[in-house]
Amino acid sequence: MTVSGGKMKAAVIRNNPRRIEIEQMDVPDCGKDEALVEVRACGVCGSDVHGFLDEESKGRVDGLVMGHEPSGVVSVCGEAAQSFRPGDRVVIDPQFSCGECYACRHSWFNICEEGGIIGSGLRGFRQGAMAEYVVVPEKNLHRLPDGLSFEEGALIEPVANAIHAVNRANIRLGDKVAVMGAGTIGLCMLQAARLAGAGTVAVIDVSDSHLKIAKELGADLLVNASKCDPVETVRKHFGGIGADVTLEAVGLGETYRQAALMTRKRGTLTLFGAAKETALMHLYPFLHRELNLAGCTGFDVEVDIGLHMLEKGQMKVQPLITHRFPLEETALAIRTAVEEKDRVLKALIMNE
Ligand SMILES: [Zn+2]
Ligand SMILES: [Zn+2]
Repeated sequence: MTVSGGKMKAAVIRNNPRRIEIEQMDVPDCGKDEALVEVRACGVCGSDVHGFLDEESKGRVDGLVMGHEPSGVVSVCGEAAQSFRPGDRVVIDPQFSCGECYACRHSWFNICEEGGIIGSGLRGFRQGAMAEYVVVPEKNLHRLPDGLSFEEGALIEPVANAIHAVNRANIRLGDKVAVMGAGTIGLCMLQAARLAGAGTVAVIDVSDSHLKIAKELGADLLVNASKCDPVETVRKHFGGIGADVTLEAVGLGETYRQAALMTRKRGTLTLFGAAKETALMHLYPFLHRELNLAGCTGFDVEVDIGLHMLEKGQMKVQPLITHRFPLEETALAIRTAVEEKDRVLKALIMNE
């Protein structure tokens, strides 16, 4: 495959009915501050699946190549790109930031006024990495340590999200922590909470197979919310009081309601999950328990921290990778993530 001026395969959203086609596209041009990366692995995110299914979605739209969880090899560097060379193994921070606004000046790059993400049309349309190549600013590249595989590298986005959520929650040594949801993010939050000093971690989900992985990754209490009242169970286990910190990683009105009620009075609830743009919630649990709320989206400086933790073996992502599909089968990957929710944790799109 020739790179500049060449063609590449990409998985493109084609509307009506919602479908994904494998199409030949031009390899994107590499600007002077940018790098062209040959994609090796790219995670299918819950937000890709939700956005793709949601007819009203402004994020996953016609003509878009999804994919914001890539790892790969640098293929071309723009003339002003200084820090990387072709052949370097990298992961990509998919978030864009202006570097100048109030948030950026505080290094809160994830909540930049002009911010956006590759593989989404939500805030500026930027093509993602469910393709053979993707182009990003050089500053979005991070070196993938030698000891880590491309597969592990593709998990850095959920890992960094989880570390950021835990940092936002200000977990203290010995805290009792509840994690709502044992998907990829929840299972990364469990590990990050442990590293932050949590004394006991409860994980709540409706899938026994996901809870089994939570157990392997060190959860103390497994709660299957389809078989018991999760609020009562968590409160009972946490001294009748509730969790010091609850990390919500499902994103439904009902799970937020439960998360608020299982958090102790004046405890902290981090809001991460968002299955849809809106959720109906009762206010009283938030008000009457005087909860501290910490909203979360993306991450700012947590990519290198996450890579370090993966390299040291302090966090594990291999148990989360349940499915692998070649780029040509991207549509099947999405369908499988929808139809076999119980079995799929992280599905990866692989380019060999
Ligand atoms: Zn993601
Ligand atoms: Zn900014």
